[in-house]
Amino acid sequence: MGKRLLRGLLRGMQDFLFPEGEGCCFCGKSMYREGFCLNCWEELSIAKKQEFCRICGRILTKHSLQGCPECQDSGYEFSFARGVGEYRGIYRNLLHQYKYVGKQSLARPMGKLMLDVVLTDRRYEGTEVLVPVPLAPVKLLQRKFNQSQLLAQELGQALDLPVLAEALQRGRDTLTQAKLSREERRANLEGAFMVQRGMGHFLQGRKLLLVDDVFTTGSTAAEAAKVLLSAGAGEVAVLTWATGLVGGSGREGRDSRELEELS
Ligand SMILES: [Zn+2]
Ligand SMILES: [Zn+2]
Repeated sequence: MGKRLLRGLLRGMQDFLFPEGEGCCFCGKSMYREGFCLNCWEELSIAKKQEFCRICGRILTKHSLQGCPECQDSGYEFSFARGVGEYRGIYRNLLHQYKYVGKQSLARPMGKLMLDVVLTDRRYEGTEVLVPVPLAPVKLLQRKFNQSQLLAQELGQALDLPVLAEALQRGRDTLTQAKLSREERRANLEGAFMVQRGMGHFLQGRKLLLVDDVFTTGSTAAEAAKVLLSAGAGEVAVLTWATGLVGGSGREGRDSRELEELS
């Protein structure tokens, strides 16, 4: 096949998947694949070559390949967690545009990358129901959308699985977690979630996938998992868009400080 013909065919396919005028969802340059340009795609793909902790999903560094100190004695109630990529660079910037600038259309390409993780990690097999982490009502009023819910809906649509957006509810208000130690965070989150009355029935014995935007200390995911399990869920696995680095909590730098503050 001639090069030109091949190029034409590829372009045709691209135009079909991503109509003209829509460049890379992040930077606007010409489309390469899945809604991104070649540069952005390459930056996103770095995550595929990284090793991650089999329990908390944080990215392992060459100093931490022997094991993940973050998980020792953590007592996480979820069976395991994973993130698509590390909270820095394009993973951080996409999340900012999505969550704080309010570019809700990013839920689709971001959800697609989360889907790739679900489809390639066999531990997610048999997932029956998706549950997004709810926002506190006051946050929802400010932001007007729950970033985790939109991501869960993209996943649910692609996997043909139900999304129980109302299953988990915020209970009492919690303090900002930024300055708290891990133990204080867990105590602060005690009672932060509850399962909506009448919803327990839909969770009984089910394998759930809890969806959130970032994994920071893991306290939020662990507390939500605890509540879901005590309402009868069979298993709770976790998937987030971004995650931290093993040992990252002691790391200097804007991104890790910011990640701490997000939790
Ligand atoms: Zn781009
Ligand atoms: Zn870990």
